[in-house]
Amino acid sequence: MIREPLPWQTPLWGGIQHRRSKGRLPHALLLEGPPGVGKRHFAEALAASLLCRGPVEEGVACGGCRACHLLESGAHGDLHRVTLLPRESKPEQLSSQIKVDQVRELCHVMGLTAHEGGYKVALLDPAERMTVEAANSLLKTLEEPPGDVLMMLVTDQPGLLPATIRSRCQRIGFTPPPEEEGRAWLTRRLEDAERAALLLALADGAPLRALEMAESDGAANRLELLEVVESLARGAGDPVSLSAHWYRQAPLEAVGWMESWLEDMIRLHWSDRPALLRNRDVAERLKRMALGYSRRELFLLREETHRAARLLRGGSINAQLLLEDLFTAWGGEETGKGLGGG
Ligand SMILES: [Zn+2]
Repeated sequence: MIREPLPWQTPLWGGIQHRRSKGRLPHALLLEGPPGVGKRHFAEALAASLLCRGPVEEGVACGGCRACHLLESGAHGDLHRVTLLPRESKPEQLSSQIKVDQVRELCHVMGLTAHEGGYKVALLDPAERMTVEAANSLLKTLEEPPGDVLMMLVTDQPGLLPATIRSRCQRIGFTPPPEEEGRAWLTRRLEDAERAALLLALADGAPLRALEMAESDGAANRLELLEVVESLARGAGDPVSLSAHWYRQAPLEAVGWMESWLEDMIRLHWSDRPALLRNRDVAERLKRMALGYSRRELFLLREETHRAARLLRGGSINAQLLLEDLFTAWGGEETGKGLGGG
């Protein structure tokens, strides 16, 4: 259960709690801003704060009362979530819209007495996916909210919501935190300052988006790219078509992995059991690959990769060409030229 707002949301949180203490909390909030800056997190923390029977400092939910326990187990009767449901025909996929029936049901339950005798909270997310009919059926409840009700509409794309909806909500705008703050937060999670900086840049400064990228790292993409690089190192694979594929994925993320592999490869070239290894899961493969290059080639490759990362972070260059150069370098041509001494 999310109880506290994210560190960079403290001013917004303080503002809302202040209004609450004065009895001036609006009935409908529109939480808007780019993906990955913490809108949902904030909404969850605020819902918990309103439902908790004994909030602690700054209105943060206590985590120990009956309401908090119910919330924790997903059984609190006064928190209502409306979101995209699995498709009827293909349950493994989510529907692309929030349907009118979902909103009608929400309006109905919001009109009933609260189960626990306190606030009733609704979370509509992603709000811009409401059908026109669904949005229309929400208007009346937004205009005449019944009792102690807070409706939170969460959206990455407020422009797609009807003006009639937007005008009936108090808007809270979320933005990425200052870079330092975002990096500090992400570094604590990833325990890797360099990687945190790289991922944060790729995510346009949105820390939760960067974290998501880091977490998907363990899975398919990273290992798929490692296979690509291994084949390039063996002299197979076509840098042009590979770069066309990878620049559409996440080029900065890809370059970040390569940087991290090269650091480890250099360590592995020197020692069988280096004290510090980032990619322990693929250490054997990196070792094998490392031994196919000279130390000088590895340093050149690392330099190329750092340069690519810097340029990508700058954002003003052709990512596909850059990746193509990098893949070519793994194939040995570029590093070979460098070794030839001109
Ligand atoms: Zn509580």
